[in-house]
Amino acid sequence: MIHRRTSLPLRIGSVIVGGDAPIIVQSMTKTDTHDIPATIGQIRELEECGCEIVRVAVRDKEAAESISAIKKGISLPVIADIHFDYRLALLALQSGSDGLRLNPGNIGDRKQIAKVVAAAKEREVPIRIGVNAGSLPPNFEPDAPLAKRMVDAALAQAKLMEDLDFNLIKVSLKAFDVPTTVQAYQLIADKIPYPLHLGITEAGLPQSGAIRSAIGIGILLYQGIGDTIRVSLTAHPCDEVKAAYEILKSLGLRQRGPTLVSCPTCGRTEVDLIALAEAVNKYLEKIDKPIKVAVMGCVVNGPGEAKDADIGIACGKSKGAIFRKGKVVRTVPEEKLVEALIAEIEKF
Ligand code: SF4
Repeated sequence: MIHRRTSLPLRIGSVIVGGDAPIIVQSMTKTDTHDIPATIGQIRELEECGCEIVRVAVRDKEAAESISAIKKGISLPVIADIHFDYRLALLALQSGSDGLRLNPGNIGDRKQIAKVVAAAKEREVPIRIGVNAGSLPPNFEPDAPLAKRMVDAALAQAKLMEDLDFNLIKVSLKAFDVPTTVQAYQLIADKIPYPLHLGITEAGLPQSGAIRSAIGIGILLYQGIGDTIRVSLTAHPCDEVKAAYEILKSLGLRQRGPTLVSCPTCGRTEVDLIALAEAVNKYLEKIDKPIKVAVMGCVVNGPGEAKDADIGIACGKSKGAIFRKGKVVRTVPEEKLVEALIAEIEKF
């Protein structure tokens, strides 16, 4: 049983983050924010695959101003990702941004923060203090462990915002190194009441990046830490969203779409089970119902191992048994297995 850390809920556009709200899945567009049609197109794709909040890179004035046109074409809340220039944050707010991400490593000047906070407060727009291990502000304890320096950077900026009577704050502490990231979030968890946005930064290509993210984000979520997540992958952003839901589904924190249980195959397998599982997976990608489907290599272990599955196949020599809730309902030849399984899923 996971007991979530208590955090102050925030509203980002129409989405609540923190408090009792579900763990929210975020991603970031990979289009040039100047290219409004391409950015709208990618945000729509992201919405379709389950993304709930999207961040866009704001690297100049034109990108900040594009937000208002982008927002007209989408329904997801938009967070403007700001580095170096606080004036871009002000422009993004004027353009209707639903949230801001500021990096304390490159926007730390008190007067500049005060201007951004005043504008965000007026619009009730939350600000994420987005600490990144690669761009930390100077620390009075330069030899302190990296996780502590990350936490110090976040706490200093949170204090600055609190002194300005602003508490619509969310915090992230991202590093590539998983133990450092986990340690940083653990250190800050009971020091502030704000929602925490989890992620392993620059996690890499889809396979290694998803594993790295699942370990870091998974450890923290299991400890009840985290209100929103983003899996950072060198891939299409929908791959990030799919990986995020796999993490949440694995911990029983969210349900979205089907879950495929498939055996690793072994010397007992007498059909092309990998091809079969891939064909079933391709079909499942098109449906959004939370159904559990099992593709198992043999009747000895199949139904038993996948007894939690709603529908499944347990294969034998050139044939397979279709089962529902662990009970065999019929047997079909290998070449008809995918078709029969799909028919059974649709009936279910
Ligand atoms: Fe092997 Fe059967 Fe287990 Fe698949 S389900 S790994 S075929 S024993």
